[in-house]
Amino acid sequence: MENCIFCKVVKGEIPSEKIGESENFIAIPDINPKVKNHTLIISKKHFVNILDMPSVLGDELISLVKKVALNFKSDFNVVVNNGKNAGQVVFHFHLHLLPRKKGDGFRMAV
Ligand code: 5GP
Ligand code: ZN
Repeated sequence: MENCIFCKVVKGEIPSEKIGESENFIAIPDINPKVKNHTLIISKKHFVNILDMPSVLGDELISLVKKVALNFKSDFNVVVNNGKNAGQVVFHFHLHLLPRKKGDGFRMAV
């Protein structure tokens, strides 16, 4: 997809530190972290959001979530924003992994 920020990240056209990878996903630090080590898990292919992503990739996605989360050795939230009204800004599938610490001041609106 032309002009998609995350397609450019996947292709390496926008440099980012890869902190994890599987066949269909990469994990990178969020450029504007809401908490320390805020991580994005991004599909290598351009899927708009979770509805557009083949369900068969779910296993692989959760495996990478677990691998990255275990590295941080802390509690964590997993968030996927789907659609503008749900707060999605980048329309290329990504999952937020938010490591949590006592008193980190971050509030989830769930
Ligand atoms: P959304 O609201 O779409 O779920 O979240 C998009 C996220 O992507 C935001 O947290 C934002 O900080 C992050 N982001 C936007 N552009 C870039 C970028 O070029 N590199 C990285 N690493 N993160 C980005
Ligand atoms: Zn894309």
